[in-house]
Amino acid sequence: MAMIEVSKLHKWYGDFHVLQGISENVEKGEVLVICGPSGSGKSTFIRCINRLEEYQKGTVLFDGRDIQDKGVDINKLRAEIGIVFQQFNLYPHLTVLKNVTLAPLKVKNAAKEEAEKLALSLLERVGIHDQAHKYPAELSGGQQQRVAIARSLAMKPKVMLFDEPTSALDPEMINEVLNVMKDLAREGMTMLCVTHEMGFAREVADRVIFMDGGVVVEQAPPDEFFKNPKHERTKAFLKEIL
Ligand code: ADP
Ligand code: MG
Repeated sequence: MAMIEVSKLHKWYGDFHVLQGISENVEKGEVLVICGPSGSGKSTFIRCINRLEEYQKGTVLFDGRDIQDKGVDINKLRAEIGIVFQQFNLYPHLTVLKNVTLAPLKVKNAAKEEAEKLALSLLERVGIHDQAHKYPAELSGGQQQRVAIARSLAMKPKVMLFDEPTSALDPEMINEVLNVMKDLAREGMTMLCVTHEMGFAREVADRVIFMDGGVVVEQAPPDEFFKNPKHERTKAFLKEIL
């Protein structure tokens, strides 16, 4: 059984048919990179996977369970499927440490001491434990994004979703975030990453998916995807970004 099984997924925003039948399985430990032109439905697709968006047709199974089933506990689902956005969305009025401990304390009823211990170890893992008592505004964009990753990891997710996590960063900060993501990938995290960082895709992706117009046009392991793209739309896209 795959960790995530998406089958014939359709979504409409009003009359607009944004996802037009997506079927994808993601195995445990697999790293998927999703690329494609702006407006192709990449964000909508990954947001459907942790129910930040509802979909109207098709199914998403996570660990064999239909995520839109009535019995599904949405907080538990979102703890198990973390998401990191382009804009870091940290709580500005909370310190870095409190940003990371908030959800474990509130959602998981963790003990304060335990939550702080875990948070500090995660901040260490993303290379910013010395910033624990600062506020988000006192950190660079790259540091804030690493806090956002630590905050997601604090819930001990089984899957991590990334939606263009480096697109809002100054160029010199992109690598510090990509390096954290590469470490996660190598440690066996199951990951779906919307990104146009093709170096990252080459290094750690198991598969690269190209979306356009609400469908998956083409997918392949990175070597093949970059060396030998089959569809004209993929070729044109790669020409633009490489
Ligand atoms: P991508 O992430 O590939 O750029 P999105 O999933 O954000 O694409 O958007 C796909 C399409 O859906 C775009 O045309 C966008 O304008 C539209 N869209 C996105 N969010 C909404 C929304 N909340 N309501 C209506 N249309 C939306
Ligand atoms: Mg997007």
